Amino acid sequence: MANFAIDAVKATTYDAIVIGSGISGGWAAKELTGKGLRTLVLERGRDVRHITDYPTTMMQPWEFEHRGQLPLEIRKANPIISKCYAFYEGSAQFFVKDAEHPYVQEKPFDWIRGYQVGGKSLMWARQTQRWSQFDFEGPARDGFAVDWPIRYEDLAPWYSYVEKFAGISGNKDGLPQLPDGEFLPPHEWNCVEKYFSQKMKDHYKGSRPIIMGRAAHITKPQPIHLQQGRAQCQHRTICERGCPFGGYFSSNSSTLPWAAKTGKLTLRPHSVVHSIIYDEKKGKATGVRVIDANTKEMMEFYARVIFVNAAALNTNLILLNSTSNRFPNGLGNDSGVLGKYVAFHNYRAGISGDYDGFLDMTTDGKRPNSPYIPRFRNVFKQETDFLRGYAAGFNAGRSSYSDQSGIGADLKTSLLNPKMGGWHVGSHMMGETIPKESNYVALDAGQKDPFGIPQLKISVAYDDNDDKMVKDYLEQMTEMFTVAGFKNIRTRDDKRNPGLDIHEMGGVRMGKDPKTSMLNKWNQLHAVKNVFVTDGASMTSTSTQNPSLTYMAFAARAVDYAVKEMNKKNL
Ligand SMILES: Cc1cc2nc3c(=O)[nH]c(=O)nc-3n(C[C@H](O)[C@H](O)[C@H](O)COP(=O)(O)OP(=O)(O)OC[C@H]3O[C@@H](n4cnc5c(N)ncnc54)[C@H](O)[C@@H]3O)c2cc1C
Ligand code: SF4
Repeated sequence: MANFAIDAVKATTYDAIVIGSGISGGWAAKELTGKGLRTLVLERGRDVRHITDYPTTMMQPWEFEHRGQLPLEIRKANPIISKCYAFYEGSAQFFVKDAEHPYVQEKPFDWIRGYQVGGKSLMWARQTQRWSQFDFEGPARDGFAVDWPIRYEDLAPWYSYVEKFAGISGNKDGLPQLPDGEFLPPHEWNCVEKYFSQKMKDHYKGSRPIIMGRAAHITKPQPIHLQQGRAQCQHRTICERGCPFGGYFSSNSSTLPWAAKTGKLTLRPHSVVHSIIYDEKKGKATGVRVIDANTKEMMEFYARVIFVNAAALNTNLILLNSTSNRFPNGLGNDSGVLGKYVAFHNYRAGISGDYDGFLDMTTDGKRPNSPYIPRFRNVFKQETDFLRGYAAGFNAGRSSYSDQSGIGADLKTSLLNPKMGGWHVGSHMMGETIPKESNYVALDAGQKDPFGIPQLKISVAYDDNDDKMVKDYLEQMTEMFTVAGFKNIRTRDDKRNPGLDIHEMGGVRMGKDPKTSMLNKWNQLHAVKNVFVTDGASMTSTSTQNPSLTYMAFAARAVDYAVKEMNKKNL
């Protein structure tokens, strides 16, 4: 009997455990297995295999029962997720439905999630800009949040490392607020976008550059991408259905199969992590408690090192739920800051207009990316009455229309020969929000999820700084559109709820001082050295750039450190 128990423990013991198989967990798994560690990846959702589990990826519009739209009853049953632009008939299989995984909105928060192998890496929009020195120095300079324990130079080599493997397209633009990376060829501009970029360059003397977006698409496969079995992006722009070419980066097409090839990976879907086990005698974490999603059986898995990559808010939930005599308020939470200083990106405002020129020009084909306006406010000095700044998306397109009034041959001819309309331009903001103690997540002990785990209570809201930023974005963009000669300028502040940006961050922030932060400069819990958090939960502040590339770089860097420490017997 004793032998049996020992064998059972052995069978559930690994060198490393990774919680979550999305963008950051996939990287942790690739790096850990690549360094020879037997690694268990625990994923709460179902398995999604590259190519075979993308059921809609080759479907034509007319093959969908609802021609791509979702029926009203599905939208009514999913009021939160239906607000996400990427949720439609072809992609619905990858989004968490509102009723299935409840949470408590102490303040309105639209939590958009993907619970499956690959997480949200299947549905993301693939914008991948590096964060800059201004982002990592920001809190120290501007006096918000706590100082980051690292600087851009600490992460730069790891950005290069992950960019080469993931495949990032872009142009070397030479901007200090948006460092260049290891780029594949950039996507093409259309004539109005090029015109706008040049016009802004002339008018603002280079201080408001408009560049081509940097995106995780393989525009020219390199040997490392072919070795992954990935091919050149075909510009189909239906990426959130899953890409059979591996044209964009996802855990499913890239990091997870690479990890599997080492023979060191065990991937366990349907495994809802309940909490991390802390051993007071050893003074470290020894494993993870898991509820099997199918049988509801509670089980334990053990490892020397644990990476928590469940996506920012779920990572907070797991740590908050990991209580012990030593840590009654959540694992590693000596400071009391766990769950606090949550921040996000402000996508509330947008602007659109028309352009009368270039009526002799049109566009050809599709492009899974668009131009980008890097932050130009408060970069080199504080120049407004709000802290930090915003970046923005920009795009131009030409519409076409056909007369649908006739019948028979006339109608067919008209439908087959659409007439070109004018050019339309548009932009949306991406503002940095300030991490504040009052923006927090906590466990709601009174309400449990279907697995008996306390639901997450989310209390996150905009503030005065965000309102001022929205106003400034609309004013500055109106000026820029006017300078460019765009007409019929229309502005909007849709007052969307936080969360819909899908860039939630913080709660387990990094910092120099264990009294005010959870993690040190290696993404390692100050108080539990063998637990690492390398997803958005670890972000000290949020930058104006999209975040996922930064999670990838942190994950690779932290694994490198962890394995060195393990080899030195420090972990
Ligand atoms: C429509 C859309 C567009 C986006 N566009 C961009 C973009 O352009 N650029 C950008 O940088 N980011 C973008 N994002 C955000 C990006 O997807 C996330 O930042 C990124 O996926 C976060 O990586 P992650 O590893 O932290 O989480 P995820 O990729 O979400 O993976 C987390 C995984 O953990 C699992 N998990 C959660 N809880 C548990 C548990 N208790 N036990 C076991 N497993 C668990 C989940 O099921 C999931 O698979 C977008 C997201 C969406 C949905
Ligand atoms: S645009 Fe590229 S990445 Fe997206 S689905 Fe098409 S081929 Fe795949």
